Amino acid sequence: MQTKILLIYTGGTIGMAKDYGDQSLKPFNFDNLLKQIPELNLLDCSFDYYSFETPIDSSDMKPEYWINIAETIEKNYNDYNGFVVLHGTDTMAYTASALSFMIDNLDKPIIFTGSQLPIGDLRTDAKENLITSIQLASLQKDNRPIINEVCIYFEYKLFRANRATKINAENFDAFESPNYPKIGVSGVHLEVKEDLLLKKQSSKTLSINKNLNADVGVLKIFPGMNRSFIESVLNAPTMKAFIIEAFGTGNIFTDQWFIDLLKEKVEKGIHLIINTQCAGGMVEIGRYATSDALLEMGAISSFDLTMEAAITKAIYLLGQNLNRDEFRKQYESNLKGELRHHFYSN
Ligand code: ASP
Repeated sequence: MQTKILLIYTGGTIGMAKDYGDQSLKPFNFDNLLKQIPELNLLDCSFDYYSFETPIDSSDMKPEYWINIAETIEKNYNDYNGFVVLHGTDTMAYTASALSFMIDNLDKPIIFTGSQLPIGDLRTDAKENLITSIQLASLQKDNRPIINEVCIYFEYKLFRANRATKINAENFDAFESPNYPKIGVSGVHLEVKEDLLLKKQSSKTLSINKNLNADVGVLKIFPGMNRSFIESVLNAPTMKAFIIEAFGTGNIFTDQWFIDLLKEKVEKGIHLIINTQCAGGMVEIGRYATSDALLEMGAISSFDLTMEAAITKAIYLLGQNLNRDEFRKQYESNLKGELRHHFYSN
């Protein structure tokens, strides 16, 4: 049976062309994109496409667009064997992570891809990324898709979406997954590491959670940081969660005013999440004395989440209107393969 794939085109460099007026790259429409890759006709699958009315640079992505992509998948879910989302690389890891949290009972592949050079460029990386993504989305075993999760495919590597992060603005090799192995590699053979994939979630039907709340603030700390800047950020009204990008295993400077301010926020019901500035390894609150106060005030650990997963998980969970304990429990749990499993203990 020939597989059917839906391509969802949101924009990004992959579909951009140079504006010879101001020399900048601007998105162009999808028909042009397909004309650039006649090889697509040679694939052993059929595909249709859906395009954003106005393709965007992914720097303009927003939760409303995440919902748009999720709804497109939901509407077409039964008619296709897999989905390929073409997206700018800059915020691809955010959108792909967000979708991993928003979609429940996924039993088909959703592969995000894009490129560093536009499809019309002679040296473009777009063709390989797109063709292999379609092939990955088509992979079947016993008439079932092999991949049941949201992934990013880029430059011969397949990553779990909520483990991936953009690490390079120059190289074709633009993504990395610092705390989880690659789940597939494209070489002479297309190899998918089935033991690393998420298992089919359940026999229930697909459901999309569209309640999101982006009242999340991120504060990256550094030695000698200005007090009034921190105060103005943490005192911003309407915030529901703060993610502190702390040092090492989740350590912060221990000036009393800073500890008191964080404590005040927690007491007001704001979720205080501790992430690390290190790409690899994980947060262990309480390992050093410099994070003892965080332990005492009940800060939430993001363990080994990427920053993209830490932010989108907070946006997703805030949308669920959970009470403080439930938010913490869910945040510290492994929902979609995004963190190394830790049993919740209080
Ligand atoms: N600025 C572009 C975007 O993210 C970069 C890219 O696609 O690689 O849409």
